[in-house]
Amino acid sequence: MKTGYLIDMDGVIYRENQLIPGVTDFIQALIAKGAPFLFLTNNSAPTPEDLAVRLRHLGITGLSSRHFYTSAMNTADFLSETDPGCTVFVIGEGGLLAALHERKIASDSIQPRYVVVGEGTTTMDRLTKAHECIEKGARLLATNPDNWCPVSSNKTRPGAGATAAFLEASSGRPAYYLGKPNGYMFHRARRKLADLTLGTPQQVVMIGDTMETDIRGAFEAGLQSYLVLSGSTKFEDIADYVYQPTRVLRSVAELTEEIITGTPADPLQDLVSNGNGFRFSKAGLRHQTDIFAFHKPRPRPAMTK
Ligand SMILES: [Mg+2]
Repeated sequence: MKTGYLIDMDGVIYRENQLIPGVTDFIQALIAKGAPFLFLTNNSAPTPEDLAVRLRHLGITGLSSRHFYTSAMNTADFLSETDPGCTVFVIGEGGLLAALHERKIASDSIQPRYVVVGEGTTTMDRLTKAHECIEKGARLLATNPDNWCPVSSNKTRPGAGATAAFLEASSGRPAYYLGKPNGYMFHRARRKLADLTLGTPQQVVMIGDTMETDIRGAFEAGLQSYLVLSGSTKFEDIADYVYQPTRVLRSVAELTEEIITGTPADPLQDLVSNGNGFRFSKAGLRHQTDIFAFHKPRPRPAMTK
C-alpha cells in the first residue's frame, strides 16, 4: 500500500535547533523509497524556502520548498479559494506576507475585508490599527490557534492564537482559525501531497508531537495519526485526551526500518493501546526511558483553544 506522510516539524524533526536523533536516516529513507511526504507546520512566520534552508543547515539535504506546507500558505489558499480579490490587513511575518502575495491578495490598511493574524511580534500601533479595521467591518482570521509555542524545553513564546485572542477581546468579534487542527489544513495538504506524487496515496499518515493540533486534526480528517514522544507530549498525558493516536512512537527513527523494508515494524516494538490508552509493549519494556517515569509535569493550559 502506498503511504503518504504529513510530518510536523518542531518536536518531530528538531528541538531547540537540534535534530532529533535518527531524523536524517528517516528522511533519506523516505526520499530513497520515493515515499510521498510533506512537512506540515503551524508556524506561519517562515517561507517554505526558509524552512528548506533551515533543514539544510541542520544537515538534511534533498529538500526543496515543495516539501513544505505552512499555516500561512493554508491561509492564503483559503482566502484565494473562498474570496478571490479580497484585501487584508496583516499582523505577521515574511512567510505570511509572501504566501498572500503569491496568491495576489492585496494589503489594505484603510478598509480591508480581513484582518489576518499570524505568528511573530507586533506593536500596540498595529494592534490598534487591526482593531479599527475590525470595527469598520473587517473579519478576523488567524493562521493558527496556538496560544504559545515552544522555544526550548523550559521556555515558550506567545503564538498567533494569543495575538488573535487580544483582538477578539478588544473587538468582541470571534476569529476563524486556520492551520492544524482545522480540516481545511489537512484537506489542502492532502491535495498538495497528491500533486507532488501525481497520484493519490492510498493511505495518509500524520506524524506529530502535539495532541491538540496534529493528532486531533488527523483524527477529524480521517487520517492515521502517529504521535511521537520526542516533542511536547509526555506519554502519561495521552490518556487525558478523548481522541487518541493510531500509534505512539518514541521518535520517527522507529519508522525508518519500516519505510526501507515496506513491512510494518514488529508491533511489539510499538507502544500499544489496550483500549484504555497506551502502554508499553513487552518489547518496549526492555527499552525503558525517562518517558516511563510516571510523574505528572506541572499542569499547563492546552496549547490551543
Ligand atoms: Mg510540533
